[in-house]
Amino acid sequence: MTRLAFLWDQSRCISCGACIAACNAANYDSSTTPNVSWRWIRTNIRRIELAEGQRPMLYLIQCQHCENPPCVTVCPTGASYKDSNGLVKINYDLCIGCRYCMVACPYDARWFNEYIWAPVKCMGEECQRRISRGEAPVCVASCPAGARDFGDLDDPNSSISRRLAESRYIKLLENMGTNPKYYVVVGP
Ligand code: SF4
Ligand code: SF4
Ligand code: SF4
Repeated sequence: MTRLAFLWDQSRCISCGACIAACNAANYDSSTTPNVSWRWIRTNIRRIELAEGQRPMLYLIQCQHCENPPCVTVCPTGASYKDSNGLVKINYDLCIGCRYCMVACPYDARWFNEYIWAPVKCMGEECQRRISRGEAPVCVASCPAGARDFGDLDDPNSSISRRLAESRYIKLLENMGTNPKYYVVVGP
């Protein structure tokens, strides 16, 4: 089987925003129209800064491509689905724009695109094309710090599997039972 997953290494991230800008450019034509749902730019990555504690903590959040995705469970039309590689996608031919999936996602990983009147999220179409050609998604390819990775968890020789084997990592909101496939590496 193939189970595609993301890794974001918080300990290597230099907070430059290259992944965010690259996602915006590749998937939204560098649009400066705001993403109203997140009060953010049009990209599938959110930047969250937590000011609590001894020092500020930065998180870059995107769709977690959950093994048990509530967005898929609640979708009344089957538009939200998990593909054979374990990526969660939207079939816009079936989507009726009801936004149940946006409400169900505990990560707030979907935002509403008023141009197509439907929710969107990671993966953008350009990234899906790249993956089908065996290339890395745009955010992974554009990271100058090597803080991102993407690949098959079921292949022990994939870069992501090797990095996870050597790292300490967390998964976000694990208590929700979603089994997210977005690994946040916190150190070696
Ligand atoms: S993070 Fe949200 S949108 Fe992505 S698969 Fe999980 S529940 Fe669905
Ligand atoms: S907005 Fe579209 S994808 Fe989301 S639950 Fe409704 S039909 Fe499904
Ligand atoms: S995989 Fe593509 S769509 Fe998803 S966050 Fe990265 S650049 Fe954006």
